[in-house]
Amino acid sequence: MDLKGMIRIIPDFPKPGISFKDITPVLKDPCAFKQAIDMLASRLAGLDFDLIVSPEARGFTFGAALAYSMGKGFVPVRKAGKLPFECVRGTYKLEYGVNTLEMHKDAIRPGQKVVALDDVLATGGTISAVANLVEQVGGKVEAVAFLIELAYIPGRQNLKRYNVVSAISLDS
Ligand code: AMP
Repeated sequence: MDLKGMIRIIPDFPKPGISFKDITPVLKDPCAFKQAIDMLASRLAGLDFDLIVSPEARGFTFGAALAYSMGKGFVPVRKAGKLPFECVRGTYKLEYGVNTLEMHKDAIRPGQKVVALDDVLATGGTISAVANLVEQVGGKVEAVAFLIELAYIPGRQNLKRYNVVSAISLDS
């Protein structure tokens, strides 16, 4: 299936100048959703890791499905105040706005290998914040992975420390 063609482009959402990539048409199509997860799984197949760590909300959709499909554990990263146990936290800049993310401090054991995964790579700020939380508790980031990479934004250059994996690259 043409997954690229199924991603709906919404101009000027959530604010002027942002070309929003809406993945809900992929999610609602069983074949397309499966293909998206299978593509990510095949790109990560050669890596040795235990956990997938993803930020809410769209990261959960792909991260949890991928973790199930690959037989890995899943760790949620949430906005401040949402997780019930003691957390590590970090603040970062979005393509649009500022955000604080938290992760349970016992979510990852020191030395445990993880993949940090989100739906879209724009500036790389969100996944850097997720990777930072992993590193705060002693985890090892084996890769940062995305369903969609926005190739017209220099996100990859901001992630030089990491092995960057993406399934679909968009040029506009
Ligand atoms: P960034 O931190 O700049 O890499 O932005 C990535 C995060 O923001 C991901 O969680 C995306 O869901 C969301 N995001 C940023 N830009 C877009 C976009 N143009 N279309 C869809 N989601 C986006």
